[in-house]
Amino acid sequence: MFYQPEIETMPLAKLRELQSQRLREQVNYLYKNVPFYKRQLDEASVDPASIKGIADIRRLPFSKKTDLRDNYPFGLIAVPQKEISRIHCSSGTTGKPTVVAYTKGDLDIFSECVARSLTAAGCRPGMIMQNAYGYGLFTGGLGLHYGAERLGMAVVPVSGGMTERQIMLMKDFGTDALCCTPSYAMTIVEELHRKGIDKNSLKLKLAILGAEPWTESIRAGVEAGLGVLATNIYGLSEIMGPGVSQEDYEEKGTGSYIWEDHFFPEVVDRHTGEPQPEGRPGVLVFTTLTKKAMPLLRYWTNDICTLHYDKGGKRTHIKMGQILGRADDMLIIRGVNLFHTQVEAVLEEFNKLSTNYQLLVSRDGNMDMVTVNVELESGFFNELGIDTISPEVIKEQPHLSELYYGFVKKIKDNTGLSMHLHLLVPGAIPRSEGGKLNRIIDLRKKD
Ligand code: ADP
Repeated sequence: MFYQPEIETMPLAKLRELQSQRLREQVNYLYKNVPFYKRQLDEASVDPASIKGIADIRRLPFSKKTDLRDNYPFGLIAVPQKEISRIHCSSGTTGKPTVVAYTKGDLDIFSECVARSLTAAGCRPGMIMQNAYGYGLFTGGLGLHYGAERLGMAVVPVSGGMTERQIMLMKDFGTDALCCTPSYAMTIVEELHRKGIDKNSLKLKLAILGAEPWTESIRAGVEAGLGVLATNIYGLSEIMGPGVSQEDYEEKGTGSYIWEDHFFPEVVDRHTGEPQPEGRPGVLVFTTLTKKAMPLLRYWTNDICTLHYDKGGKRTHIKMGQILGRADDMLIIRGVNLFHTQVEAVLEEFNKLSTNYQLLVSRDGNMDMVTVNVELESGFFNELGIDTISPEVIKEQPHLSELYYGFVKKIKDNTGLSMHLHLLVPGAIPRSEGGKLNRIIDLRKKD
């Protein structure tokens, strides 16, 4: 089922025409209304009139997060203040936040894209949606909220946290769909186990998860633990918020559709900025095609992923693969590039290890060291009949030493890096309280 069938299945040639026309308008609009873009285009000697179609997009300069910071708070806004309907900020924790603004029309498109996304996720009018994304300056809460209302769902605006209450409401209301971060969905799964609540006492059918990178093992954990189909929703405040792309519930694992009529995606080499061929990973770059309050040209998201067209898919729009990580989250360990999702992929192969893990990066002299802190899977831990895990215990327990050495070897084979493994008892790693989870502790930054 589609929310906007003509758009979602538009033949590619027609989609290109639409994108070309919108890009021409967007470039001229920005040149006229935002001094930053006028200057940037002049400096790059790009005459807006020379941008004829989407193929010319490569001639436009990139915009970066620093441009938003340099123009804090309202320097990139293209409309008079009285036309602004809402202001959000990114959830960034250090320094000034990056500010984004929306006109009424922008919010309308935001809701439309989220309604489209929720439909692809399997949501239908009449269903109850529990929105456990944080409300506030973060775009997740309100973004999902209005999109679900637009689709005709009943929204429970519970926001993140208070897991016990979340479960009570889910049970009492017969909630059909849950929206939250994947790590918070796992927190809910664990709380069900802890309280001995049968997932079948809930009516949940769908989980729409995003705002942070996640992998197939988390999907398997959430699907089994909550009895749902879990799909990926992606977005960022600078471009709009959640609903820039969404995975279809019947095409799980094949990537998330990017709503190309509004957001033109490119994947470029992180060093040269050169566009990458389909399927090759690089930095995801977006140009907004219809935004009015704060449009961005070739915005460098810093997210690393691939793009591909899926001829077997229901829709014509391009798909993005799972985010491997952010370019600024990429660890460089003894000269080797490492994303935490690579470690997560290895963890997936060891069912005696849980998906609760953290990477601790430190420096010993000139040597970078990575320690994988990971909890044992709770069933396996209980079978062992131990209370603590120490090097002695690992030596004495054949199952534990097999696991230990098996993991250390596999991680070296897959990433090319030797890492330490620190096995922990279930519950030792901090859980998501509803927001984004930090998987990396890099102690080198304090050097
Ligand atoms: P902040 O940059 O402060 O986190 P946002 O709340 O706008 O601000 O977050 C957007 C970022 O969150 C994206 O650029 C991406 O790194 C991450 N993100 C959002 N959705 C997903 C997803 N489904 N998978 C992986 N990462 C995601």
